[in-house]
Amino acid sequence: MLPNIKSLTREELAAQLEAWGEKAYRAKQVLDWLYVHSVASWDEMTNLAKPLREKLAATFSLQSLELVRMQGARDTTQKFLWRLADHSLIESVLIPASPSFDGETSDRHTLCVSTQVGCAYGCKFCASGLDGWKRNLLPFEIVEQVMAVERWGGEQAKVLSLESQVPSQPPDAAAAKLQNPYSRLIDNVVIMGMGEPLANYENLLQALRILNAGWGGRLGARKITVSTSGLAPQIRRFADEPEQFRLAVSLHGATDEVRQKIMPVNRKFPLRELTAALDYYQAKKGKMLLFEYILIAGVNDALDQVRPLAALAGKLYAKVNLIPYNAVEGLPWARPDDATCEAFLVALRKQKIVCTLRREKGHDIDAACGQLRLKTERELQSAVR
Ligand code: SAH
Ligand code: SF4
Repeated sequence: MLPNIKSLTREELAAQLEAWGEKAYRAKQVLDWLYVHSVASWDEMTNLAKPLREKLAATFSLQSLELVRMQGARDTTQKFLWRLADHSLIESVLIPASPSFDGETSDRHTLCVSTQVGCAYGCKFCASGLDGWKRNLLPFEIVEQVMAVERWGGEQAKVLSLESQVPSQPPDAAAAKLQNPYSRLIDNVVIMGMGEPLANYENLLQALRILNAGWGGRLGARKITVSTSGLAPQIRRFADEPEQFRLAVSLHGATDEVRQKIMPVNRKFPLRELTAALDYYQAKKGKMLLFEYILIAGVNDALDQVRPLAALAGKLYAKVNLIPYNAVEGLPWARPDDATCEAFLVALRKQKIVCTLRREKGHDIDAACGQLRLKTERELQSAVR
């Protein structure tokens, strides 16, 4: 199989073009076709000579992801299930303006992106790890989740503007947005889909650099958040990267006792080691971390967890995002009732910790990542049987 051109940085593409004796400006032309005009074929790259297009086609693949299933209504959380070339399934989730992701209510969109097929870390509550780990995603498979949803957004805007076309009225905002090939639907990317991103370190960083580049995804580094279950050595490595990507840590327990009940990774990197790595990250980056804390009934929602959680968050200047657990079919865990979640939030605020509680209902449709894939895999298996 040919390497995909969207796994390449500008420098790598430029080096290849130079080796073919092409002028330096050709790299920019190719990248504009890929990331501004989002073309699906080499023949659409009309300002390149045919022999160059043929050489590119013989050297690189331009393949995208195949959309196999969507779930969710317009203006709410939308799930995209993609099929890869080896028939693996992965998912991305588009979340409209969400205070728990970006702290404000507006017309912003956040895309939740996957980095592996399955997950090897086996957290007890998570759908992504249920069938184990299959493989790492390649850089373009991470980049293309964003680009393919952008293309989908462009198509939606086209439909919306056709629906609202009344001859006497000026074109609406969606149509205006569509006319500008540089505008983007997605404002924030969170690497919180299927997989442990820091266990696919090189491909993740390559993809983030492509998404962050002015010639590529044009997403600011601060608009990109990587979530980890707590791989201490990779957190240190991430702290040493020059970019200001954000880091979120899936804590879910503020003591080793609670955490290792639900997260096997805690045996390898207990809280002492994790917090030492986060200290290093904080010292290097000097900015706020995010702690994700799923509230699971009877596991980590008792008020005696508030003090140790506040102590960790306070020491590391971390903001805490409380997330009521989404039930996963076949797993025994449940979400606490609303009053318990609110009481946990109030108690944490009393400890002067900056925190939010995710309340939106959009997350109820097979909400957490990994669940639509799991459902589809199981439906496919029962269809085969
Ligand atoms: N592997 C990384 C990133 C993917 S998981 C990590 O663990 O951080 C993204 C977030 O969704 C994690 O905080 C994870 O703990 C959480 N999550 C997984 N299953 C969930 C569920 N059923 N309900 C709510 N959150 C869930
Ligand atoms: Fe993997 Fe994250 Fe799910 Fe744990 S929570 S199994 S690390 S995807």
